Amino acid sequence: MGEQFLLRNYDRYPLSLEAGKGCYVWDDAGNRYLDFITGIGVNAFGYCHPRLTAALLEQAQRAVHFSNLVSHRDQEALAARLCRISGMDRAFFSNSGTEAMEAALKAVRARAVPGRSRLVALHGSFHGRTMGSLSVTGQPCLRQRFVPSDVEVTFIAPNDHAALEAAVAYDTAAVILEPVLGEGGIHPLDAPFLQQARGLTRRVGALLIADEVQCGLGRTGRHFAYQWAGILPDIVVVAKPLAGGLPLGATLFTEEAGQWLPPHSHGTTFGGGPLACRVALEFLDLLEETMPQIEPLAAQFLARLEWLRQRHPVIREIRSKGLMFGIQLVEPARPFVQSALGQGLLVNDTQETVLRLLPPYIIGETEMDEAVRVLDGVLP
Ligand code: PLP
Repeated sequence: MGEQFLLRNYDRYPLSLEAGKGCYVWDDAGNRYLDFITGIGVNAFGYCHPRLTAALLEQAQRAVHFSNLVSHRDQEALAARLCRISGMDRAFFSNSGTEAMEAALKAVRARAVPGRSRLVALHGSFHGRTMGSLSVTGQPCLRQRFVPSDVEVTFIAPNDHAALEAAVAYDTAAVILEPVLGEGGIHPLDAPFLQQARGLTRRVGALLIADEVQCGLGRTGRHFAYQWAGILPDIVVVAKPLAGGLPLGATLFTEEAGQWLPPHSHGTTFGGGPLACRVALEFLDLLEETMPQIEPLAAQFLARLEWLRQRHPVIREIRSKGLMFGIQLVEPARPFVQSALGQGLLVNDTQETVLRLLPPYIIGETEMDEAVRVLDGVLP
């Protein structure tokens, strides 16, 4: 049957998957692959984690959907948990990262007073594919043909302190940052840059939005990557791993920022349903137990990648924060993704020349060694 009836919007790898367990997936023909991209950062606890599966099955027998006309206990419990770990006060639930970002942008727009509507975002950033999120995404190839040219966004380079100082002024409504740029090729923002963004936005009265869709929820060894810089944004956006593979996004607001989305200003049919919220609560329980191991695991894997770098001149640089790794090559990465697939390892290429690895939080030495052995075999 093939892909005859699917829209041709994806440039997929030649792989058709059927099942997964732990750190591994299996294709239609029964071949096994070590998954070091985890559904682009979604399957943080691998596939079919027994506790996530049990929570899902148990809740599926109670109720999958109610609607946001009514309240339910797990949505309230999840909001409370997310607020506690993030330092925010209010949560809005949606179904994806891009929707979670749209809610943040709507709050900024609702708050905007005349003369204060300009946004500041980063070159190379990625915030999603819907029109608002795309308008603050710093990748011209994704924006072109979709975002009107009169949208008021100033893009600056990540970690460019002088450009940030120059860009944030009294006409700025918000600064939007990914504390670690993910799709952009794994570029961590340095702590002084995040602190400067917080200081400047406070000084001019603009909002600071942290997009933690890829780098949040334990991926860097903290609940949120902005916590490494000791700052508190006004709005935090999360999604990807939150509900163990079920679609769930959350926009977290300070009390003050949340007031700009009063009753009837925003909403969703599916967001924050009982099934996703129940699994997300289990995910957060698991995360509490696992988080202390994330940094040590990341250090062990980084040491192996450094060993690889010394052996392969095609590697120009390794960038990382926690369990986010960008292997910067001096040539296109796609052929190496395909050779790695042939050797049973699933990784991803981004920005043409970067091999991106987002391994699950449950990897051990065996999986690390296996991934490095495959990369050692396929890189020149
Ligand atoms: N923000 C960041 C940092 C992302 O990495 C992504 C997706 O990769 C998004 C937003 C959009 O999320 P989604 O694809 O769930 O809409």
